[in-house]
Amino acid sequence: PAPTLLDGNAIADRTHDDLASSVDALRDAGVTPTVALVSMTESGAGRTHVSMRQQACSEVGIRCWVCEIDPRQPAASLFDRLAELNDDPAVHGVSVQSPLPDHVDRRAAARRIHPSKDVAATHPENLGRLFAGAPRYTPPTPAGIRRLLDAYGIDTAGKRAVVVGRSETVGRPMATLLSGRGPGGDATTTVCHSRTENLARVTRSAEILVVAAGRPELVDAEMLSEGVVVVDVGINRVDAGAAAGGQVVGDVDFESAAEKAAAITPVPSGVGPLTVAMLLSNTVDAASRHSGVDVDLP
Ligand code: NAD
Repeated sequence: PAPTLLDGNAIADRTHDDLASSVDALRDAGVTPTVALVSMTESGAGRTHVSMRQQACSEVGIRCWVCEIDPRQPAASLFDRLAELNDDPAVHGVSVQSPLPDHVDRRAAARRIHPSKDVAATHPENLGRLFAGAPRYTPPTPAGIRRLLDAYGIDTAGKRAVVVGRSETVGRPMATLLSGRGPGGDATTTVCHSRTENLARVTRSAEILVVAAGRPELVDAEMLSEGVVVVDVGINRVDAGAAAGGQVVGDVDFESAAEKAAAITPVPSGVGPLTVAMLLSNTVDAASRHSGVDVDLP
């Protein structure tokens, strides 16, 4: 039988609708939730990221400021801008967009965002809180995946979960959620990475598999067990001829994996839209915390 398609667009749309009511409630109280997207790239991928976030903000009623910094500028230009945004009471959330130029250290940038405005949850304080079971903001991609699984009634408790990738934005926080207590957690969780030996043997043990390696079509049917739930985080631009302008593929060979999977995310329209929706949700949360106006979050 064909696998269930985990439709990120549909769940993100639903989340946006719910967020719009929360934004209305804040606006009625005189608060306009505002996020600053700080971008230091001229890459096409970077621009696509920003414009997708702007579009989603406008759907929901969040004010979105895009701060562009010339990637030839020193890191101090970025840090100065972050300091200004930290001090600006009209700004509730600040998110530094990837990619950053090579001369800017991602962790150093993350440390310069005030933790209370760190809606992408990259500051060590927010990562620490997540790890300690008392998150302030949950990193958007893992939060989005949790939401997607929940929306399709996929229970994680007691399951064997495998996460491929150990980044601080995706792989490790995802493993923290899956292995933590409570809804969306309680899974027996294994983390794989670039030094993992015999990856296929590990992925075949998965009942829930999350792949965030940034390697085009790393995972195929041979690496899966029958009935697995596959979440493909990868966004890889592969050249399909200059005229076509390239094409986006995931970390999973979809056609092949669909032969074994019980449920699977498409790329695009799987995890990506949920990542954006959860960044917006964290922004609404931040606006609520900063203003003291309580609202429901989806
Ligand atoms: P990253 O480069 O920071 O981390 C990749 C991880 O994969 C590393 O920990 C590495 O050890 C592991 N890895 C690399 N090759 C491997 C291999 N052959 N076998 C096993 N593990 C391997 O990347 P990231 O920021 O975590 O992003 C991963 C992918 O997800 C990228 O394609 C990125 O564009 C995409 N992404 C998508 C979203 C979304 O919303 N859909 C959000 C963030 C990132």
